[in-house]
Parts: sequence; C-alpha cells; structure tokens
Amino acid sequence: MRYVSTRATTADTRGFSDILLEGLAPDGGLYLPVEYPTVDDATLTRWRTVLADEGYAGLAFEVCSLFVDDIPADDLRAICQRAYAPAKYLDPAVVPVSQLSDGLWLAHLSNGPTVAFKDMAMQLLGELFPYELARRGETLTILGATSGDTGSSAEHALKGRDGVRVVMLSPADRMTAFQQAQMYALDDPNIVNLAVEGVFDDCQDLVKAVNADAEFKARHRIGAVNSINWARLMAQIVYYFAAWLRISEGGPLSFAVPSGNFGNIAAGHIARRMGLPIRHLVLATNENDVLDEFFRTGIYRVRSAEETLATSSPSMDISKASNFERFVADLLGRDGALVAELFGRRLPAEGSLDLSATDRSGSGFVSGSSRHADRLATIRATWEQDRVLIDPHTADGVHVARRLLAEGTVAGPVVVLETALPVKFGETIIEAVGVTPPRPAVFDGIEDLPRHVRRIPVDVDEVKAVIAAL
Ligand SMILES: *Cc1c(COP(=O)(O)O)cnc(C)c1O
Repeated sequence: MRYVSTRATTADTRGFSDILLEGLAPDGGLYLPVEYPTVDDATLTRWRTVLADEGYAGLAFEVCSLFVDDIPADDLRAICQRAYAPAKYLDPAVVPVSQLSDGLWLAHLSNGPTVAFKDMAMQLLGELFPYELARRGETLTILGATSGDTGSSAEHALKGRDGVRVVMLSPADRMTAFQQAQMYALDDPNIVNLAVEGVFDDCQDLVKAVNADAEFKARHRIGAVNSINWARLMAQIVYYFAAWLRISEGGPLSFAVPSGNFGNIAAGHIARRMGLPIRHLVLATNENDVLDEFFRTGIYRVRSAEETLATSSPSMDISKASNFERFVADLLGRDGALVAELFGRRLPAEGSLDLSATDRSGSGFVSGSSRHADRLATIRATWEQDRVLIDPHTADGVHVARRLLAEGTVAGPVVVLETALPVKFGETIIEAVGVTPPRPAVFDGIEDLPRHVRRIPVDVDEVKAVIAAL
C-alpha cells in the first residue's frame, strides 16, 4: 500500500514505513492510502473465525496487513500479538461489547494500560516505532504536549523501549490527581515529564517552538506520536471490525463516537469505505461543537483558544479537529489542489470553510452535541437503569445516540464507543450519582508513589536544554 498527502498535486507516493515516523507531509497535508482496500462478505466471514480463534491480535494482523506491505508478515503478526496481548488489558477480549437494557451497545475501548481508548493505537505504535528505528539504526525523541490521556498512553506504550525517548509537557497542577499519577509515577530513564507552569496551550506552543527550530529538531531527532499519525488511525480501524463481528450477524450497525480531534471517528469513516456495513456514524461533541456545527450546516468554523470551553468531558475540548482534513479530502474526491487551497490558505486566513454546497449525504455522518447537564443525566440514567457506570465522554456519545434514535434520525442497532473508564473522571461521576467509581487493582495507591517530574516555566530554552542534556 502506498500513501499520498491530502494536498498532493503530483503522483508522489510513499511507503508505510516512511510515513510511520513522519508527522505532516512536507506539503503540510496528512497522509492517506492512495485508495482504501475493500473487504467483501467472504473476507468478513473469514475474519469472524480469525477473531474467534486468534483473538483481537489475530484480527488486528488481518486488517493491518491490508495497509502495510513493507514489514514482513511474520514480523507484523508478532507486533500485533505483542500490542494486543490479552494480559495487557483488563479484559482478555481486549475490546469486549455489552448491551444496555434499552438496546444500546457499548464497545469497550478503555481496557488498556491507561484505561482510555488512546491505548488501542498507542500500544501498536509502541511496537512499530522501536521495530522500524532498529531496522534503520536510528533513534528518536518523541516530544509531545498533553492535557491528560494522550501523554500517559504514549509513555506507557514507549517505556523501556530501545531507541525511543519521550519528553512530555503537561500543564502543572491542571490534570486530575489520577492523571498526574499515571504519568509521574513512571520511573524510567527514557521518560521525561515536564510540568509547565501554564495551561495546555502553552505546552502546545512550546512543542511548536522547538519544532520550528529545524536545525535543533534534526540534530536531536525529534518526532511525534500525535493524533494525525496514520498508524494510529490504522490501529483504530480494527475495533470497528471487531465490534461489528461481535455484535452483527451480517446486517448493518451504526456507531456513535465521542469526538474531539476526529481521530476515532475518522477510523470509522475508513472502515465504512472499506465495506464494513456501517449505516450511520454518529458524531457526538460536548459544548465545543465545531464538528457538530459542520455536519449540521456544512460550515467548519474553528474556534479561538478563548472560545474553547473547559468542560467535564475535557478530552473533547478542542477548537480545531486535527484529523478533519482527511475526511474533507475524501469528500472532495481527493482533489489535492482544492484541499491545499482550503486548508493551506483559506482556513488559516479566514478561520472557516464553507462546504455547504458540497454533497455530504453519502458519508453516513450525523451529529449532535451534549452539555454538562446532559452528561450528568445520562450517567445517572444508565446507572439507575443498568447499574453500569460510564465516563463523561462516553456519556456524550450515549446522550447523542439516544436523542437521534428517538428522533428517528438514526437507525439501530447503535454501538457507542466507550472511550475511557469512569475512574479517570471520578469527580464528575460523584457529581452525577454520588458513587466513587471502582478502581482497577493495578492502580491502587498510584497517587502515593514517588513522582518523576520536573517543573519548568513557559520557556522554550528550558525545554531545549532538557532535550540537549538527555
Ligand atoms: C481523545 C479522546 C476522545 C476524542 O477522540 P478524538 O479521536 O480526538 O476524536 C474522546 N474521549 C476520550 C476519553 C479521549 O481520550
């Protein structure tokens, strides 16, 4: 499989291993497969057996094989087996499914080491990166900024790996105690936590400033594992197939996806284009509804930092959806020149894109948004009806799914993707139902462990000094 930039105007393509370690394409676009592989009924039938016999890792190998042709099959299989070893997950099914009493399904994506769905992709990157770096005889320093889930997921996936170091910036004192402990309790010489005396945007600006120094970036071999990385999307495609195979006997399903950067649901879009019977993709936002607005109106208007609200589903507090360009590229029939014009010139200049005249009806997307009170009411109703606790992000998905089902906008069965365990967001759960969410035994007492973190001011020279001294 060859890959091409969303903004490409030439027939220039690259292999999987080349784009694995890259972020943006040189023209500023995002990589996509030249065309999506398709999956027919016979393949789905075979994969049903693979999932039953070889588990989630076996299915992951089947799906990834369609996108990767420059890693020997035996190596790729071993990589998938390590990434999705049942012992690494709270449930050996890796992505189990369950049904609520009103018929709604949940696909549980948060059984990994940091109990958020980011692990599903990061665990695969944690195998792919060291493999590819070793093959090339190279090393890499991953520099990132996190407001919570991504940083800890990356650190847990890359700890103790040869050839990879992680320097992660987080806003000092602004994550929950549990989130801080998940990162800072890691005791590994290759993992460096920097608590920045500022907000998440300051952390992101520091990462951008370091990357803007091309000479420094090349000398210290700085890389990233952010949500635009193609391999993360590829890993996420797998669980749409797994959930469908576990729930459907052949008929279509709809998926409801709590969304922020459009990474999770972009994988669903690709699975649908590959031929998986998905009727609707239900995009759920919180109060930060830039994507809901787009799917209702066709107008994509990015928000400023001041307009971005801090909500009780914080991992969806985004002003600009970094993966959205991929969907638009497909919508526009992969017209690279037009995508470059829209995302390279018009969006930065005008802050919005008007695609209201473009036909979006075939995409399967519908959308809705949720507010704090909806989240609390949904957590409460699900608890009272089923004695099931869901986290605030998952609650946004359940709320929007229930509303669109009631309106008749969406046809069932609907599968809501559960994106985190409630233990990560205990305060909101207590506010909703007065119950402290259960804590998996592996996390007992993590807040009391010694903390490995260095506090720094908002100063790019301090970040560079830390990297240079590694
Ligand atoms: C990252 C995250 C999301 C949003 O996913 P995107 O891929 O950014 O759309 C939703 N819920 C949780 C818990 C997350 O960590």
